[in-house]
Amino acid sequence: MIRTIKILFFLIIIQALFSCSEKVQTEKLLGYFLNKHVERIKPMNKRFNKAIWASYSGEASFNELLKESNRTDSLYLTGSSTPEYYQNLLNSLYSNPSEFEILEKIEKSGLITDPLLRRQFGKVFRNYISIKNNWDETEKRRSELLDKFYDLKKRENSYFDSVTNESASSRSAKWITEFSSLTFDFREMLKALNRDVKSLGYDNYFMYLMDNQEIPVKSIDQMTYSVEQITRDDYRELFEICRSGRCNRECNPKGQLTPFQFRCAHSRMICPSEWNGIAYSKEGFIDLLSSFFASGGFVIDEIYKKSDIWYRKDKINNSFFFCVDFDDADFRIYSNSEPVAQSLNPMLHEFSHALHDQSVDKEVPYFLKTPHSIITEGVGLYFDSKVYTSEIVQAQLGLPCLEKNVFFRDFKNPSQLLFLRKLLRNIQFEKSIYENPDQDFNDLWWRLNKEYLFIDPAPEERLPEWMTSFHIIDSEGINVNYLFAIAFAAQLEHCYPDDKFAPIKEKVMKYGDSVPWFELIRLSTGEPLNLNYLQRSYKRMSSPNLLTSLTTTGTPKKES
Ligand SMILES: [Zn+2]
Repeated sequence: MIRTIKILFFLIIIQALFSCSEKVQTEKLLGYFLNKHVERIKPMNKRFNKAIWASYSGEASFNELLKESNRTDSLYLTGSSTPEYYQNLLNSLYSNPSEFEILEKIEKSGLITDPLLRRQFGKVFRNYISIKNNWDETEKRRSELLDKFYDLKKRENSYFDSVTNESASSRSAKWITEFSSLTFDFREMLKALNRDVKSLGYDNYFMYLMDNQEIPVKSIDQMTYSVEQITRDDYRELFEICRSGRCNRECNPKGQLTPFQFRCAHSRMICPSEWNGIAYSKEGFIDLLSSFFASGGFVIDEIYKKSDIWYRKDKINNSFFFCVDFDDADFRIYSNSEPVAQSLNPMLHEFSHALHDQSVDKEVPYFLKTPHSIITEGVGLYFDSKVYTSEIVQAQLGLPCLEKNVFFRDFKNPSQLLFLRKLLRNIQFEKSIYENPDQDFNDLWWRLNKEYLFIDPAPEERLPEWMTSFHIIDSEGINVNYLFAIAFAAQLEHCYPDDKFAPIKEKVMKYGDSVPWFELIRLSTGEPLNLNYLQRSYKRMSSPNLLTSLTTTGTPKKES
């Protein structure tokens, strides 16, 4: 009996030793592969990012941008259109002609258990699967659509300058109608995207997008349900202020609010009238931002030098952040802003993105450097909402308090409440158009507007607004990310309020994407994503008992 046990014990040891060495070998091989892969991918990504920059700043077209992206893609599979150097490197690395086969074997072996290696492997493997897929039709459709879309966007400022003799609402209506010609291209692109992900085992492209970003579709349904419940009554109150026309003496709807009046009310929440007339020199504006961030130990000088921020008529009216390269610390912001108080909010947001990338720990592996969009947008919103919500930060930036403003009397951040409701609409819209790309998109859009924003205009007022949205045309599912990001930002503000943002660098930014987004939320705030903080991030609350809380099943209930 003792003998049998001894033999069994021996066998187990041998087995363990064998699998251990196999595991060590496989992890070594993967580590080696990843290093070589970074070497060939890095210069390609840098070139691609410069091409993105060039296409936004008008130096190149979107067609050229997509060509550049295909060149990057082709590297994963064949390496044929890239310098011979990389091909040789690969050939010497493996006798096996197909890298993908090796990666598949590693995946099936289940031998990679080191968390950092597993995470890198997951990213690279997903890329290979995606690149192996044939996206030819999608690329063609997307490039056609984006070329037309951005050509229109670049004409926006000169368009509005050219029709000054008409009323603001009719100018706006005509401008939106210009985009309706893109509906056909958009629909065909959605169908192509859906076809392309079928072979990857997804029902539609939305499912694929969410899976790639580690966002379970079930959690989206739960999240949208909860946020809808939490915000409904508050939004009704805010909507009533818009509908009563109290925010603008020239506008008195006395009944149905038109989409134009609604957009106007929202813009007054984003740019409160108290800020009108507050202007700076360009240097003064940057100095203000610079000393604000410096109070938390952040330096923006290098980012500003590389950025293209200031207004020109032919630029696109949007703000973006680009990471060109981590090693070169090449981080840039694109915007079309004037040095006025209204620009502080978007610039705090974009600079926080740049500082985020700048603060990623040098030790974080290349494929895990870029932070998850929920995390980076959460941090961006955490910073930018302080201009509305924090009297301490307002004083620091020389901005007036907003308590007497009609929108801000009961709400600390009314535009965020409205944004939350818009996101609910956009997410349902996106989900639905991928599920059924043959439906009437405009009809769907206005049904959802009625449901989430209580806007129900006359038929002639139902313009294809959705076609003018970057966030919908880009088809990257960013609306879902923003919804989670706002909740995360509220949680961050609870932990690191007002001007106490210095710890964010160590608590959030340094990780890049080296831990999953939901884990990073727990790490940085001490608890998982918790919607208890959401309401008080936009509403003035007299007592914490008013908080809406969630039960364990995710069903919201009011605390008594
Ligand atoms: Zn952002």
